[in-house]
Amino acid sequence: MVKLNGGPGYQMNVIEVSCLEVWREISNYLDGEVDAESRMEAHFKACAHCKAVLDGTRNVVKLIGDGIEYQVPEGFSKRLYDKIKNK
Ligand SMILES: [Zn+2]
Repeated sequence: MVKLNGGPGYQMNVIEVSCLEVWREISNYLDGEVDAESRMEAHFKACAHCKAVLDGTRNVVKLIGDGIEYQVPEGFSKRLYDKIKNK
């Protein structure tokens, strides 16, 4: 059993936004245009899967920003990629 040193009142169920919401807002989040920014950050801390999606999206945004065509990794949301690409 893992003991967390988060102090009293700290709970692991800090996921206030669903994974689906996070994926929907992730490109806006990277642009800093999300009202729920702090809630999304809490989600990324608690959800390893969304953290991986965030890191992948960041790389895509950076590469597209550099003008380099990017091969979408397997499992990466195609719709999300298109959304970023068509920006
Ligand atoms: Zn998640």
